Amino acid sequence: MEHIGTFGASAYNVRDLQLFRDVDEEPLAAALAQCALCRLEKGKRLEDTYRARLYIVLRGALEEAASDGTVSKILPGESVGEQSVLDETTNLTPISALEDSELLLIEADLVWQLIDESNGVARNLLRLLSFRIRAASAMLRRRQKLGEFYRQLSMNDGLTGLYNRAWLNDMLPKMVATAQRTGGPLSLLMIDLDHFKRFNDSHGHLAGDDALRAAAGVINAALRPSDFAVRYGGEEMLVILPETSGKLATMVAERLCTRLRQAVIFVDMRLPLPHLTGSFGVATLGAAMSELELLNNADAALYRAKQAGRDRISL
Ligand code: GH3
Ligand code: MG
Ligand code: MG
Repeated sequence: MEHIGTFGASAYNVRDLQLFRDVDEEPLAAALAQCALCRLEKGKRLEDTYRARLYIVLRGALEEAASDGTVSKILPGESVGEQSVLDETTNLTPISALEDSELLLIEADLVWQLIDESNGVARNLLRLLSFRIRAASAMLRRRQKLGEFYRQLSMNDGLTGLYNRAWLNDMLPKMVATAQRTGGPLSLLMIDLDHFKRFNDSHGHLAGDDALRAAAGVINAALRPSDFAVRYGGEEMLVILPETSGKLATMVAERLCTRLRQAVIFVDMRLPLPHLTGSFGVATLGAAMSELELLNNADAALYRAKQAGRDRISL
């Protein structure tokens, strides 16, 4: 950074500087007269940001790159470094020139003096900081939303919106452990759509996707908020019923089986029901049973439902 003179000897005007807007000009110009003017070449970094001081861009543009990846541009009339002056900390964010720039340097002592002497400067500074806080929290909210979006994306199946296998692998062991610890019941329903290959063959894969989505919707809509529906495989779904005994789980399975049989998948084709049926295997957690055993039991029960003729439930 090259020292090129003082503010007093330059042609710049305090009126054009954001921080001094609507502030009585004469005393201000006098106070700033001895402040240094510096030139920073394009691409060069501000080297001495460890000193708490204020920089005002007079010409050109600066870029401040925060460690969280956000980049802000500081344009003519705007300032940087207020915060480090106010809380007397070092500004560690790298600041560099986007273009050949001219800067006004105001040392911390003088900033404080201006705040003490001029309500206008204090007010502008407050407004500036308030604006920055607002922008920062808006960005934080956007990030949170984005984080939530990706979290959802990683836990849910794209086609059906049900929880996916990764979610199951994470959550089922925890639920089983909780049930084992508290001694509360826990049941599973393993569901497989019947003759779904045939469905695809006769109606096409896209209609198959729609049907799968509709079936997932039917199942999800018939559950309590405390239950969980997972897409287990292609056209296989798993329902987790916490705090639910085998008897109750059987009733839930019967209800789901009926709803699926009665669901209208082809709204405009007037094809006779059922459009789609499913087979259901019911299993309940026993003492000292692992989640793998529980899943295997549900799978075995499903196999029995298929063997017995499909569109039914089995224990
Ligand atoms: P079963 O009654 O014995 O279960 O017969 P099935 O035809 O349903 O059994 P199978 O496992 O032989 O076939 C499953 C079919 O499900 C084959 C596969 O193309 C279809 N399928 C799996 N996932 C999807 C999907 O995401 N979209 C569509 N359209 N079809 C799928
Ligand atoms: Mg299958
Ligand atoms: Mg099937």
